[in-house]
Formats: sequence, C-alpha cells, structure tokens
Amino acid sequence: MTKPTILLNPGPVTLTDRVRSAMGKADWCHREPEFAALTQSINARLAGVYDAAEDDYASVLVTGSGTLAVEAMLSSFAPVEGRTLIVANGVYGERMAGMLRAMRRPSELLKAEWDAPIDLAAVEEALVSDPGISHVATVHHETTTGRLNALADLGALCRQHGRAVLLDAVSSFGAEEIGFRDWNLEAVAGTANKCLHGVPGLSFVLARRKALADNGHAPNSVYLDLRRYYSAQHGDGYSPFTQAVQVAFALSAALDEFHEAGGWRQRKRRYGEIGTAVRRCLQGLGVTTLIPEKDYSSVMCSYRIPPGVTYDALHDSLKAQGFVIYAGQARFSESIFRIAHMGAISDGDVERLNRALTEFFDGAR
Ligand SMILES: *Cc1c(COP(=O)(O)O)cnc(C)c1O
Repeated sequence: MTKPTILLNPGPVTLTDRVRSAMGKADWCHREPEFAALTQSINARLAGVYDAAEDDYASVLVTGSGTLAVEAMLSSFAPVEGRTLIVANGVYGERMAGMLRAMRRPSELLKAEWDAPIDLAAVEEALVSDPGISHVATVHHETTTGRLNALADLGALCRQHGRAVLLDAVSSFGAEEIGFRDWNLEAVAGTANKCLHGVPGLSFVLARRKALADNGHAPNSVYLDLRRYYSAQHGDGYSPFTQAVQVAFALSAALDEFHEAGGWRQRKRRYGEIGTAVRRCLQGLGVTTLIPEKDYSSVMCSYRIPPGVTYDALHDSLKAQGFVIYAGQARFSESIFRIAHMGAISDGDVERLNRALTEFFDGAR
C-alpha cells in the first residue's frame, strides 16, 4: 500500500481512518429528526471544548469554510451604530477589515507589520480616545506567520475598557487556550478542518447566548445571520438551510476522537512535540524561523527560505516524498515556507519528514 500524503499545510488536515470513513455512514435528509439531533450534539460538544464556555456561550453550526464563520460573526455582531476596531498583523486580520468594508460597517484598522506583535499601547490609545469603538476584532493565531497573538493582554485591555471582542480563532480552536472567562469575548469563529481534525465544509461560531438572542440587530445578510441559525438549532435542532451532512458525520467522529484523546491540552502538547522536533532538525540544517521561537503557536511554524533555495524546489522535493508544505502569502511568498502540525501525524511521519528535509537542504548546499 502506498503511504497517504501527509498534509503540513494549515488545514485541511490528514484525516484518521475513523473520520474519513464516517463520511460514508449514510444518506440523510437535513430536515429529519436524526440530523437535528446530530446538529445539537455537535453544537454541545463544540461548546464543551473549553470548560469556561459551556454556561454563557452557544455554538452555531454553518456550512462553509472558516472564512464564512468569520464573516457570519462580523455580519451578526459588528455594530452598525458604533465602530469596530480591527487589530491586525497578518492576512487574516486584514481580511476582516475587507469584510467590514464590503458590509459597509464602520470600522478602523490598526495594522502592524506581519512579522510584528500587535501593538497593545496603540490599542489602548484608540480605546481611550474613541468612545465610538464598541467592538475589537482580531485574530488569535495569525496563520500568516504562526504567531500566537497576546490575547490575554488584549482581552484584559478590552475588559478594562468595556469593549467586546470578536475573535477569529479558526486556526487555534481546539489546540490553544481560549479565555472565555477573561477575554471579554462576544463571539469566536472556528472551523471543522483545522485543529479539530474534521473535513472542510462546516464551520461554527461560539457566541454569548445573550448576543445570539438579541433581536434588535438588523441582519444585512440572510445566509450569514447567526441569530436565525441559533433560534433554529437551539430550538428544534433544524438548520435554516441545507447543511453539509456527510461533513457533519466526519466532524462528529473527529469530536469523539478529540474528547477521547484528552481535548485541547493534549492536542497542544502533541503539536508542540511535532513543532519542536521539526524546528530542531531545520535549525541544525541552518534554516531559521521568521519570528522568535517563543512567539509561535503550537499549531504552525514559519521558516525563512535560505539563499540559493526556491520554495518550488523545496515543495516539489517534499511532495515527491509524500509531504505537502505551504508557501508564504503575498509579500512573504518568496521568503518563507510554513509547516503546520495538525492532523493525523505519527512519530514515524515526523522522522521521515526530517529525513526528507535533511536530504533536501544538505543537497542544496
Ligand atoms: C484558515 C483560516 C481562516 C479561514 O480560511 P478558509 O480558507 O476559509 O478555511 C481564517 N482565519 C485564519 C486565522 C485561518 O488560519
């Protein structure tokens, strides 16, 4: 049997056999009680990923990739009267600014360099000087670089100044700590196919029940209106539109595996082991990280492409050995490569990867 390709891109991930085979379980109508029950069970398990979320937050399941969850979060919660401050240091933060512009919602963009941390002093200054800002939108794990943003500090600041946080946690939900008690979170967007190890096609938003039940907010979209999903899914369990049924089977199996294995703490530990092993190998080969090692999430790491090497050559050489890595985005497309640690990756896979990296970079000298 040929070995399956190991995906080292930041989602979708290499599946376990259990998750892959769950997709073939059955043909179900999304408007039958068995699918309504599955939806409610998935929502309950998503809200249970973080203990602190269970009482005050509810999950809403939507069909679409992580971008859809982020857009639905902004469409449903970004203020029409007040203003959203977007704190960005990468592609995904800046994408939220594009979404609010497209929705014609008032916003202000506080942009840092992509390889820099978010500027907390500038955030505080904006919150103090502009009482019109009611919400702060930001990215937890900025996948552009692998940086885990300082959400504990930003959340404390927002709490102190009474501003609600809208968080893109698409690439951290399930593998990094999320402070549902302390970060003043109004809503958090996540997806099935990153740290939860499901299949692409479903995503979700965990939001305060109070905010989801508030009918005073006029929707600017039909498909993205999370209150509509909330009243349906947390009423009789039905969703307003056709859901990705087979993707839900896979997500359900992935959540079973996730909780059986020990939840987000275990996943963070495992990703950390893989990341450390790959970083040690690459550092030994003279390949350096883009940002300081302590600033990375457990989920993904970015490396500078050494002189004399092209991304394409590295990518193709690894792909021939069964590994898919990821290029940098936009201004980083020529200068970095990224290796994510998500999905069904064994110790043996990591050893083979390190051998393939060693062969390539030794050969390139
Ligand atoms: C992957 C990702 C998204 C969503 O991207 P999709 O292509 O829609 O899955 C959003 N934000 C972050 C931080 C991500 O890593």
